[in-house]
Amino acid sequence: KHSLAKMSSSIRRLLPIFDGIPHYMKQRINRLWKKWKEGAHEVITKYPETMTQRKKLNVLVFIGFLANEQKLNFAKKSDHGGPLGELLQWSDLLATLSIIGHHLEVSTDKESLKSIVWKYMGRGPCQYVNGSRQQLDIIFTDIMGLNILRQRHRQFLMNNRCRIRLLDSFGTHAEFTTKSYFLQNKRKLSGPDSQRNPWGGHGLDLRQHWTFYPHSDDNTFLGFVVDTEGVGENIQKTSTPSALIYGKQKYMWMDAEKPIKLLKKLVKVHATVADLEFIPKNSSSLFDDVQNHGFLNSEEISELLDKTTIFFGLGFPLEGPAPLEAMAHGTVFINAKFEEPKSRKNYKFLSEKPTLREWTSQNPYMEKIGEPHVITVDINNEEELEKAIRRAIELKVFLFSVFQPNILEFQPKPYVPLEFSPAGMLLRVAVLLEKQELCDKISISKRWPPVNEMKIFKTKKSDDSCEMTCHSQNMLCEPSYFPVMNSSPLLTREFSCSELSTDSSPFAPFNCTVQQSASLFSCASRPSPSSGVVRLCPCRDYIPEQHAICKMCL
Ligand code: UDP
Repeated sequence: KHSLAKMSSSIRRLLPIFDGIPHYMKQRINRLWKKWKEGAHEVITKYPETMTQRKKLNVLVFIGFLANEQKLNFAKKSDHGGPLGELLQWSDLLATLSIIGHHLEVSTDKESLKSIVWKYMGRGPCQYVNGSRQQLDIIFTDIMGLNILRQRHRQFLMNNRCRIRLLDSFGTHAEFTTKSYFLQNKRKLSGPDSQRNPWGGHGLDLRQHWTFYPHSDDNTFLGFVVDTEGVGENIQKTSTPSALIYGKQKYMWMDAEKPIKLLKKLVKVHATVADLEFIPKNSSSLFDDVQNHGFLNSEEISELLDKTTIFFGLGFPLEGPAPLEAMAHGTVFINAKFEEPKSRKNYKFLSEKPTLREWTSQNPYMEKIGEPHVITVDINNEEELEKAIRRAIELKVFLFSVFQPNILEFQPKPYVPLEFSPAGMLLRVAVLLEKQELCDKISISKRWPPVNEMKIFKTKKSDDSCEMTCHSQNMLCEPSYFPVMNSSPLLTREFSCSELSTDSSPFAPFNCTVQQSASLFSCASRPSPSSGVVRLCPCRDYIPEQHAICKMCL
């Protein structure tokens, strides 16, 4: 039925779609192409079988948030400090899909979406036109795109629901995916700012939500690539340590007057605030003695990071790509710690996000990396912050190469976790698209990840999630295993039950209770400490620095 996907690192395959995407995306794809080619070579050399024995898929990429451009202006704002994370991820996804050899249909507006939908609608499964298969296998879109599909192409969406892959930066938890469960429990699931769920309620399988960082085991990790073009080309040994403040819009600085003041005392401070001309000069001394470069393009950012000692987080934006880029340039990232974790229950920005995840810092992924690359500190604790800044200055060392004394090197060494490199992303997306099956019910022996990779653990404390339980074993919670594990004989054995009951609860299966609603299976949910619940958790290992794939799962 399918032909094989052929790896191709010719950028020409993407040229036809370049007309329809924002300038920023074209530029990023072009700029990183050399790195993509190297990554493609690396991954095919290392995993020849995995990379060549794959079905060629018809993939629709519908970038919903650009389809509302007239209202939202995201493409236009991308050169002035608007959100770039999404555009960056879409660029990397397009590059990946093209290189791993799938057939692409790309749309960023409602009109072209319509013609693609018509092309694939109404023809029975698997018709051939001019030798190519006329059935979609996968549809990448985002929540805005899903809403457009729902409003304008209902039948098409119904036929293709299981093929949807939703780009969902912060991820979605089980409690928010079905409307009815959320509505019945919204008080418990919300804080004072909002009891709404505008981004959830789609009823998709949680694995159809593909995230920006590998932060929610219930979802699938898509990720992006860290721009390492030009790293190290502009290093200079300077006697004055410097910091670049992470915050490209003025409002991100407003609650950080004190830490910024301290930072200024100890190092030379740079900024890339895009909207600074709009503040009256005398309104604040916040920006005094700050060298603001305004919005920089990628080359300029790279150049500046090469000369920077500290990349300084102010607590917002949460989980953007910039700290990884800074680490790739060998700067020390000061990561703002949240003494009281932030979540939808206590933080306005998160109050309508469909997740109960708790942020312990501005970037929890970086927090785990730690020194010498990252120092996580409460930036409002003056004493601790001063120690952290001094430590960062100490960690950053320039030295002449032992082997080539005329070459200047620096520490910390530039570092990019494998999963954020081109090779890592190519492998991950290729494997996920080939193996993750969400349309057909498949027999246990054919499941992916393979069921014999499943390790079952019980939660130790009543308020532990399965994520916490698996992580404490250096594993991840694997949602694909829940239906396999939710079996009466297994529960009876594990808990010595004389009788079993059923429940529709995000905690099930637990004690002698079988899960009744497949949509509520949850790695992340935490029962209350006094509940007496002991959950059964399905865990799996993962390739180091490649969370999405288990070791024996290629
Ligand atoms: N960036 C840029 N010019 C600037 C400041 C930032 O091109 O003056 C880039 C940065 O290199 C990163 C992207 O903006 O690739 C997104 O950064 P951020 O982490 O702020 O995430 P966002 O909130 O935009 O998703």
